[in-house]
Amino acid sequence: LGPTITVGEILVEIVATTEGEGFLEPLDLIGPFPSGAPAIFIDQCARIGGSAAMVGAVGDDDFGQVNIRRLQRDGVDVSAVSVSTDHPTGSAFVRYRPDGTRDFVFNIAKSAAALLEWTTQLEMLVSRAGHLHIMGTVLAMPSAWEITKRAADIIRARGGSLSLDPNLRKELIDHGQVREQFKQLVEMADLILPSGEELVLAAGVQDERAAVQSLFQRGANEIVIKRGRAGSTYYDRHGARIDCPAFLVDELDPTGAGDCFGGAYVGCRRLGMAPAQALNYANAAGARNVTVRGPMEGAGTRAELDDFMARTARASS
Ligand code: ADP
Repeated sequence: LGPTITVGEILVEIVATTEGEGFLEPLDLIGPFPSGAPAIFIDQCARIGGSAAMVGAVGDDDFGQVNIRRLQRDGVDVSAVSVSTDHPTGSAFVRYRPDGTRDFVFNIAKSAAALLEWTTQLEMLVSRAGHLHIMGTVLAMPSAWEITKRAADIIRARGGSLSLDPNLRKELIDHGQVREQFKQLVEMADLILPSGEELVLAAGVQDERAAVQSLFQRGANEIVIKRGRAGSTYYDRHGARIDCPAFLVDELDPTGAGDCFGGAYVGCRRLGMAPAQALNYANAAGARNVTVRGPMEGAGTRAELDDFMARTARASS
């Protein structure tokens, strides 16, 4: 029915090589790495073999080229990534604290990514797209939110499907307008890929089975819960449940795991794989990505993920 598309932020990430707090003194940094949750998602989706396209914007600068070249190399259609001459590519500086939390310096609010417009190229892409993957981060960006709603209506009308990664922090959803928009997103999606915490936020119920049931009643057909080192779980509206134990890996950089997981899952499902097989690849994609420094550096092709699965043990379930 046409490619999987996603809308939202494209940026570079620059990472401190030492753990600690903040950026208040000169530090050794590595990067720029291509990044942005939807960009990581769509890169993994393309790498696994899916037909994939990105909607977003970069500046007319090297950081923009870093992203465009990577997405193109990995097979993502970038015809609807516009290049702004007025605004730079977004960036994020990241430093890990010893406890695993992160400090950020973001330059996104005034970057090209925050100022998307509905272009002719975008119109052409959306009119042939088969699936829209929505990242909850669009709720923080009014222009991406408007484009997402418009694209969703068009794709729905032509019989396409929608997935949602809530990718949402609790502080954000406490905001009245965001809560309302999030509710709309949950009701639009056929497939939802939340963390355990996001599932509770989306459903408003603590108990996992009750929360899942409530999302099925609101329209979803499939729910896949991401649990970090504890793997993932699939539910469908007919009562099926599949638990997938995590692969045992040394985590070097957790950024991007959930996005790679989602990109692999959606990519595999749209290639016609059954949920159990898609879940296996998704688990492998998330785990492989945390073993490599840089948010999208560990995204894998199908052959790379097959190889990873063949040589990596799993946690016992
Ligand atoms: P997010 O990045 O959205 O917080 P998770 O941390 O839950 O998402 O990671 C998504 C998926 O990636 C997990 O469900 C799991 O399959 C895999 N994964 C993530 N971190 C690890 C890890 N340390 N070891 C093994 N698998 C992992």
